[in-house]
Amino acid sequence: MSHQTTLILFKPDAMAKQLAGILLAKFQQEGFSVRGLKMMRLSDEILAEHYSHIADKPFFPSVRGFMQETPVIALALEGDDAIARVRELLGPTDSTQAAPGTIRGDYGFKDGDAKMRNVCHASDSPEAAAAELTRFFSQGELF
Ligand code: ADP
Repeated sequence: MSHQTTLILFKPDAMAKQLAGILLAKFQQEGFSVRGLKMMRLSDEILAEHYSHIADKPFFPSVRGFMQETPVIALALEGDDAIARVRELLGPTDSTQAAPGTIRGDYGFKDGDAKMRNVCHASDSPEAAAAELTRFFSQGELF
């Protein structure tokens, strides 16, 4: 187990449902520490980079549109084994497959948008976390 920092985004569905406080409390109750936090609008450019692994999928334009519906909150969270543990707290991409008690299980859409409107993004590997922390935060914004 190693000490890690991971990058979370509160997506527009979470923002529209006023879930920011609940989500932050949940992460802090799990023992994670906030190292950076800001609200931002996501440009086409940052989304093309962030979602380059799905850029060729037919659903990518919908995901880009969704991620631009409202500003998002970006969060840098630190803790033991943070990358895997935060992903476990989220549950799988498809909210209908996410167990009750997980963030996507409890708060994700359960209708046709269940694979897209899934509340939070979280880095899925140490390499992704390093790239994503740099993508969303400048050095002076991480503490
Ligand atoms: P995750 O965010 O769980 O790591 P991916 O990296 O595979 O998942 O996908 C990035 C995001 O793209 C997902 O969180 C979701 O918002 C959206 N997405 C993934 N698959 C689909 C799909 N089949 N249809 C619509 N949106 C999707």
